[in-house]
Amino acid sequence: MNRQLELLINLQNIDSEIGGLENSLKKIPLEIEALYSAYQQIAGEISSIKNEIESLNKERRGKEREVEIENDHLSKTKVKLSQVKTNEEYSAILKEMDGIKKKINQLEDEDLSLLELIEEKQNILKEKERKIMEEERGFQDKKSEKEREIEGLKNRFEQKRLERESINNSIDSKISKDYIKVAKNRGGMAVVRFAEGICQGCFLGLPPQLASEIRRNEEIIKCPHCQRVLYWEG
Ligand SMILES: [Zn+2]
Repeated sequence: MNRQLELLINLQNIDSEIGGLENSLKKIPLEIEALYSAYQQIAGEISSIKNEIESLNKERRGKEREVEIENDHLSKTKVKLSQVKTNEEYSAILKEMDGIKKKINQLEDEDLSLLELIEEKQNILKEKERKIMEEERGFQDKKSEKEREIEGLKNRFEQKRLERESINNSIDSKISKDYIKVAKNRGGMAVVRFAEGICQGCFLGLPPQLASEIRRNEEIIKCPHCQRVLYWEG
């Protein structure tokens, strides 16, 4: 095989691998962010449940104050009972007291419902707090794992970069420049296989004469359609 062609094939392989490494290096921080957003979502839910519980407790304190006021009202009404002069007045006050008692009962019922609701929310809160602790542990573990992965990729990247440099140094500068130009225009693929009568870069067929020249791998031949360098793997 032509030495320059062989070097170009190696260069393409390394560049493809470098491209993959670069993609992974871009992707992993996003994956870490996605993991963190799951954790943040639960944290947001926890804070909104806490707010709900706080406002329910406030509502309860309001009800309790109302009960106190009504109890006070009831005692004062009871005092009036001892001062009545007529039966009509007496039954009117009894009716009033009845009304106050009903109101107190209603307020106490409402307070109880609030208490039940608060307990329900507190159970949900406990569950979420348990979950967030788990998430946090999981997140830290996964994050360290991803960071180790990044380290590994960076090392590999550096190794490939050096390999690339040494190969590129042996390639004629005109060929190398041409390679970079085509790679830039053709999605990073400047050197492709020729197989089954077609260029494996643009998938178009080539004339038989050119095909047989490519099969010899003795010179650098470009696809007339996409300008990629072609080689034959046998
Ligand atoms: Zn082509």
